[in-house]
Amino acid sequence: MYIILLGAPGVGKGTQSKRLMTKHGIPQISTGDILRAEVKKESTLGKRVKEIMANGELVSDDLILEIVERRLSQADCAAGFILDGFPRTIPQAEGLDEILRRLDNISVKVIEISVDDAEIIKRLTSRRVCGNCGTLYSILNKTLADLIPCEKCGSKDIFQRRDDTEETIKKRLGIYHETTAPLIGYYKAKGDFHSINGLQTVEEVSADIAGLFAKQLT
Ligand code: AMP
Repeated sequence: MYIILLGAPGVGKGTQSKRLMTKHGIPQISTGDILRAEVKKESTLGKRVKEIMANGELVSDDLILEIVERRLSQADCAAGFILDGFPRTIPQAEGLDEILRRLDNISVKVIEISVDDAEIIKRLTSRRVCGNCGTLYSILNKTLADLIPCEKCGSKDIFQRRDDTEETIKKRLGIYHETTAPLIGYYKAKGDFHSINGLQTVEEVSADIAGLFAKQLT
């Protein structure tokens, strides 16, 4: 089960990746999470990307491809993986094709989750994250106090990402439409591409994704 989840920030890629990871026991490879962990560690890489990320801009293709190739070569990726937030540019998609060819000609299923920009801004400005285990929360119908401690790990470190401010979200959406959305055409032309309505409930989106695999097995 090799999956690319495509879609703008805030469409639910992280939530769906985590559900797929739990259900199928395959790793979620989120380039954003990998980079955030480096920033937290204050590593050389983390220092290089910290401001780029805070500004909502994209990290260089070469750097991202190096990170992804190293990660996909690890043993836990052999039976499957979910790519979340990668690829984000045509050169990244081309680089990924090369990596997959080297990794025994793996073929991926590409699933786009689509949501309109107004809904994304609403979702992301209210998104909160557990700093310890990464569980995603929303303060849309709750206060921050209701979310503490984290229901999964008990941590009190529930925070707002630096790039989840309205101004930076609008910038990230602009970059998505200009640079990442062309991947839809790229993957449609390749064949195994599917689009899902991300305005449905989390459970409905998961059911649609499961349906894509059920069809393949029948
Ligand atoms: P995300 O958690 O996927 O929203 O990513 C957060 C930030 O990490 C992005 O706004 C970029 O600065 C950086 N980033 C994550 N994935 C990529 C990627 N595939 N290409 C370039 N930059 C990325």
